[in-house]
Amino acid sequence: MTVLDLGVPAVPGAAATTTDTSGRPADARLVDSWGRVATDLRVSLTDRCNLRCTYCMPAEGLEWMPSEQALTDDEVVRLVRIAVERLGVAEIRFTGGEPLLRKGLEDIVAATAVLAPRPEMSVTTNALGLTRRAAGLAAAGLDRVNVSLDTLRRDRFTEITRRDRLDDVLAGLRAAREHGLDPIKVNTVLMPGLNDDEAPDLLAWALDEGYELRIIEQMPLDAGHSWQRDRMITAEQVLASLRTRFTLTDDPAERGGAPAERFLVDGWTAPDGSPAKVGVIASVTRPFCGTCDRTRLTADGQVRTCLFSQTENDLRSFLRGGGTDDEIADAWRVAMWGKKAGHGIDDPGFLQPDRPMSAIGG
Ligand code: SAM
Ligand code: SF4
Repeated sequence: MTVLDLGVPAVPGAAATTTDTSGRPADARLVDSWGRVATDLRVSLTDRCNLRCTYCMPAEGLEWMPSEQALTDDEVVRLVRIAVERLGVAEIRFTGGEPLLRKGLEDIVAATAVLAPRPEMSVTTNALGLTRRAAGLAAAGLDRVNVSLDTLRRDRFTEITRRDRLDDVLAGLRAAREHGLDPIKVNTVLMPGLNDDEAPDLLAWALDEGYELRIIEQMPLDAGHSWQRDRMITAEQVLASLRTRFTLTDDPAERGGAPAERFLVDGWTAPDGSPAKVGVIASVTRPFCGTCDRTRLTADGQVRTCLFSQTENDLRSFLRGGGTDDEIADAWRVAMWGKKAGHGIDDPGFLQPDRPMSAIGG
């Protein structure tokens, strides 16, 4: 099988693997058998969280990963270094659970910022505590943040996240802006009867504040396995709702592997003077698996090729068993070669993964 060249530069100085019996080609990058190349790494730094969003975690929380199972800061940095230096990863997103609960986050960011070629680095966060951390994260080299916020109404925020912390999130967002962690993207999940009437208000607010709103379709990744296809707000419904107040046109920019379908909001400009945009991430109704460029690491050092994978490949045992960088890089390549063509949510035999979103790293 020939691996398509998707325009990702070869990894300089990295040892290419030899073709093995699986048909895997001699390519240093994270190629899969469908011709895709993973260059975007999502690293989960913890499965813990200080919110309890209904579409993600149960009210009582989950049984947290024992701390000895979680990778140490040094282990995380080693895997990130291997990904960048040997596997051609160019973009790193730290996530969780709530990544700001990780005390060593600034150190991990700083160690990632000195890698060559320097990867683009962002954090996906609920922004609790960002007022105290934004300066340090910016100083460590963090480029930008994605902040999750589903409503601007305090009562709804408390209902959705089961915590009364809306003001802290808004303050965290302002702190990110003050410290130049931009462009700031705001991720929103809409749910019927809870906040599905709020899309135009959220967009008006985001445009005023200079944030880029992205509305994400709810996926079957909740701990309670209660997701129902006919109870989710679709991208089509989101766009219809936004168009009641805004004129949206297709963004002519190349989408590449980006999950968000972006639209220009007529009459509005972003803080950098470019046309303001809004994104819709239609993972369920308009899947973008064909251009997926992601690889994922859980907080306990498992490679996941997809949010919806049923299998994981263990890198922690290589880390703790004296594995060399070459061996770890090759184990990662083997894992990615087995990536499935698509998430299969619409397949009759679809099974929700055992780990919920908070333990995979969204
Ligand atoms: N705690 C951080 C936060 O909330 O931004 C990072 C982890 S969270 C799992 C990452 C993203 O996943 C958030 O934007 C959240 O809204 C989204 N998410 C969680 N569960 C989801 C689900 N079932 N469907 C769609 N998005 C989900
Ligand atoms: Fe926590 Fe993020 Fe899940 Fe909400 S979506 S419970 S903030 S991990």
